Amino acid sequence: MTAIAIVGAGPAGFYAAEALKLADDRLDIHLYDRQPVPFGLTRFGIAPDHQRLKAPAQVFQRIGSQPGVRFIGDVEVGRDLGLDELRSAYPAVLLTHGAQADEDLSIAGAAPGQVRAARELVSWYNGVPDVPAGEFDLQQENVVVIGNGNVAIDIARLLCRPVGELAATDVSDRALAALANSRVRRVHLIGRRGPVQAKFTTRELRELGELPGVDLRVDQAALQLGAACQTELAHPSAEAAQRNLELMRGWAQRQAGAGARRELQLHFGLVAEAFEQDAQGQSHLLLRRMRMDGAPFAQSPRPTDEQVRLRCDLVIASIGFRVTSLPGLDLRCAPGLPNDQGRVLGDDGMPLSGLYVAGWAKRGPSGVLGTNRGCAQETVQSMLADRSRWRQPPQDAIAHLLARLSGGRMRPVAWEDWLLLDELERRAGSAQGRPRVKFDESAALRDALARAVSGVLPAAAE
Ligand code: NAP
Repeated sequence: MTAIAIVGAGPAGFYAAEALKLADDRLDIHLYDRQPVPFGLTRFGIAPDHQRLKAPAQVFQRIGSQPGVRFIGDVEVGRDLGLDELRSAYPAVLLTHGAQADEDLSIAGAAPGQVRAARELVSWYNGVPDVPAGEFDLQQENVVVIGNGNVAIDIARLLCRPVGELAATDVSDRALAALANSRVRRVHLIGRRGPVQAKFTTRELRELGELPGVDLRVDQAALQLGAACQTELAHPSAEAAQRNLELMRGWAQRQAGAGARRELQLHFGLVAEAFEQDAQGQSHLLLRRMRMDGAPFAQSPRPTDEQVRLRCDLVIASIGFRVTSLPGLDLRCAPGLPNDQGRVLGDDGMPLSGLYVAGWAKRGPSGVLGTNRGCAQETVQSMLADRSRWRQPPQDAIAHLLARLSGGRMRPVAWEDWLLLDELERRAGSAQGRPRVKFDESAALRDALARAVSGVLPAAAE
């Protein structure tokens, strides 16, 4: 029996497990995750009002239920066990740990907590265990979301969507309560480049125009394109940008709706420079107007003399994530771990024996969920090609490692535990007309498991 360790039970980890089992059903696959529940970004990244995008979780559920596939949750590599320990116990280790850090954005004059990373808000509304309930109270009226990617759109949409619609989703209960009491009135979505260079996809952009009770504004002037932008837009590869422009030009003609609950304004060509307080103690964000400069497809934003001032209480920086190496593996990630078709490369450019990478950790934080399937399959091809050269660890090494983990800080969460938690979450959800009510506290999750093990099946997750 050969077992392979996968670090990260998200989309790339499950797609790799699927490809490995398809190639050789006798392989055992051990999926480690630092969270006590599986599915990574499918559960903790995709916005709660995008339930249809979570459909791959059903595929992952089937993969995880196959004989020989094992989930080992609530075990963090680098905290509960070292990567070197894993590598000495398994002939091959596949890293699918994603992008765990945030690109930094600092703005002069910001008060503590006034600039928050997108990940913090997304983790809070998606029920990552143990994020404090009061992490975001949303008692501020003016929120600026910086970034023009799909995560920025998710955040702007969530802040504007009627709470009654969110109440029918699996949004975390702590966020639902804060969203129900939200005093957010104005949301500004800010890109440093122009509408042609925005990274969001049309489907996501279109939804902003469909939000009930939202006065959506786009500045006409921002949609006037210079010659280089027009050349970029006319290129066959710019289909999405063409559709985006068409949508936004339509919105720019809209009359402000009477009685709107929220204003949502899209801005382009602005970079945040500093916060300042006015005489009444109200906070404003000063932004520098940028102009695109350079040849088509090689343009970059250059500062102009113009400044723009916006009332702003809170900034959410949604400017991308960063891949980091795991403790014990000191490699520079740009944008993912250095690799050759999924074989992790050391500083000398040579493959590190039995160590592989897939998903965001391999290619950087880009692509949609399905992109991870092909990415994982490529890595699995490399693994299978190398298989005869894998080192064979002692027979009992894995059993020793798992026994040590079971006697450690906390018993790891097994696949059977997850199936029980899943059932409890779904049951609690169906009582409220929701897909599930997520456990968002480890203590409650552990308590439910302990009661189940002692034969007292909890009625439902609360
Ligand atoms: P992203 O698509 O890379 O967008 C990052 C945005 O941040 C870009 O607009 C970028 O502008 C901007 N940015 C970077 N540094 C900046 C700075 N210092 N100041 C101002 N702006 C800055 O990243 P993401 O939105 O985090 O999404 C990550 C991946 O997940 C993407 O592939 C995305 O499509 C995917 N995703 C998909 C969905 C979906 O399918 N519904 C939902 C969420 C996420 P520049 O372009 O100028 O660099």
